[in-house]
Amino acid sequence: MENLKKYISEINDYPKKGIVFKDINPIYKEPDIWKQLMEPLEKLIIKIEPDYIAGIESRGFITASALAFKYELGFISIRKPNKLPGKVIGLNYKLEYGEDRLEIQSELISNNKRILVIDDLLATGGTASTAGKLISLCGAKLIGYGFLIELSDLKGRDKLDSEVFIESALKY
Ligand code: AMP
Repeated sequence: MENLKKYISEINDYPKKGIVFKDINPIYKEPDIWKQLMEPLEKLIIKIEPDYIAGIESRGFITASALAFKYELGFISIRKPNKLPGKVIGLNYKLEYGEDRLEIQSELISNNKRILVIDDLLATGGTASTAGKLISLCGAKLIGYGFLIELSDLKGRDKLDSEVFIESALKY
């Protein structure tokens, strides 16, 4: 897995000064490499058998929807503010670079369905933990998190529910 790091570009001071942005786009354009990076998340799906995969806007949608389609699972959108119609619940949270808010359609998932939350990257954990809280507020059951990349030094993992499965394909 470590050999895949050479396909991930690092952009200094993007989108803000002090952030080293990990750009996964060079991997998405190489099907064989992308497949290798997805393997740990595929194993997680096979192991924990979620009812649905929830993807976090917007980069998380690429990974989450690809996996949902392949494993014939329903896909749930967790989106930035004012993108979802109908009854919506939302929470504000802190990001590695700034503040944001995530929302979900509150009546989309029926009670106790088992949800795997997927995002491209785990940094400080604010985004993923907020997504997990939204799943619980809907009455569904968060059973795991999957990421392509984890920035271990930022200790995002510590912010996530320790009772659920957490998998990241590539750790920095
Ligand atoms: P966090 O809430 O701090 O865990 O940030 C995770 C979210 O922000 C993910 O949805 C990522 O897409 C994005 N993100 C945060 N830091 C980076 C980074 N260094 N490189 C690329 N994306 C990042």
